[in-house]
Amino acid sequence: MRVSVYFLGCRVNQYEAQFLAEQLRHLEGLGEVHVVNTCTVTALADRKSRKLVAQLRREHPEALVVAVGCGANGAATGLRRAGADLVVGNQDKARLPQILAAYLQGQAWETPGWPGLAEEQVHGPFPRARALLKVQDGCTQGCTFCRTWQVRGPLRSKPPHVARGEAENLSAAGHREIVVSGINLAQYGLDLPERPSLTDLLRELLTVPGVRYRLTSLNPEGLTQELLELFAQEPRLCPYLHMPLQSGDNRILSRMGRAYTAEEYREKAEAFLARVPKATLGTDAMVGFPGEDEPAFLRTVGLLARLKPLNVHIFRYSPRPGTPAAKFPERVPKEVAHRRSAFLATQARGWAQAVQRRFLGQTLNLLVEEEENGLWVGHTENYLRVGVSGADLTRGTIVPVRLCALGENGVQGVIIDRAEDCGDRSS
Ligand code: SF4
Repeated sequence: MRVSVYFLGCRVNQYEAQFLAEQLRHLEGLGEVHVVNTCTVTALADRKSRKLVAQLRREHPEALVVAVGCGANGAATGLRRAGADLVVGNQDKARLPQILAAYLQGQAWETPGWPGLAEEQVHGPFPRARALLKVQDGCTQGCTFCRTWQVRGPLRSKPPHVARGEAENLSAAGHREIVVSGINLAQYGLDLPERPSLTDLLRELLTVPGVRYRLTSLNPEGLTQELLELFAQEPRLCPYLHMPLQSGDNRILSRMGRAYTAEEYREKAEAFLARVPKATLGTDAMVGFPGEDEPAFLRTVGLLARLKPLNVHIFRYSPRPGTPAAKFPERVPKEVAHRRSAFLATQARGWAQAVQRRFLGQTLNLLVEEEENGLWVGHTENYLRVGVSGADLTRGTIVPVRLCALGENGVQGVIIDRAEDCGDRSS
């Protein structure tokens, strides 16, 4: 059987696409199967999921088209209408090989409940230089705008020794950087009998030599003192923290159901930037949430201007069916949300350049990811995007680079043994 797996959305979905591709590699039978791991985080994600399903249906009329994942839970009807033969929700996704085998033989299948994460392991290699390791699923935070927690099932964490075994596999497959991923990493371990913390997990992962680790996204409550210490001491824990802010206004944060105030966010972010060598920050900001007036929006801008994140993922609020916020009054007009989003994007470009400029002249360690217009491009440990020209590099390796100048899409660097090529631009 020829099987292709596609994904939309977050890193967890990307990891699961790899898991499904590995599991379905040996599916028996003739013909073609196309599996789409869908996303339902925004209305746009739903549309993109449906569009991909419809496109596969059109281009492969004889093939079996299967929609799985968050969209299959939250927006199944649309996916069926778009042409999916089979729609399989998150609860059954990990058992897709058995479900497909039964379906192809015209048999029914059982749904025995949510599987534990120890059942989900990958070996790699991933198609990209950076590998992913899912250690957590589910969320009980209940943010009022978010649909993810409704479709991801109960809290589940991967025991540290299981995650370490998987990291060993990924290291053996040649990966030098592993991204530790979850739906809400701040809740890692709460469901396990010994309640290991995220720091315990990372300490266990760090026993695998020759690999550096990066966290995907961590809500502020997850940045504990012990994790901050580990970041400060451990060079193999990448000093980049993607910590979603969403809003810099306490009234909006409370309406969103977030677990922190703007002041708490600022303290955590400032502590991270001050304590961790070479640290940079990324964040999510949501504009146009119901009740966000101009002063509230400006508080978000003001807080971010103070912290100068390297990356800001800007989302315009869109009401999601079945979420409390979809019924909130004081809706923000679309054009206002557009204007705020464009303004924030302009500010964010300036902050990114300020961070990049700060590291010019320094030597950082670049994960070589892909060749692009004659340059080798990758990310440093603190997530600066760097392009290197005129070097014979190997994809997936980590090399020291000296940062020389700002380019259009990131920073230009040179391999350290040619650092003199930087000239005086690096001052
Ligand atoms: S923390 Fe909030 S936004 Fe994140 S998955 Fe949980 S409910 Fe959704």
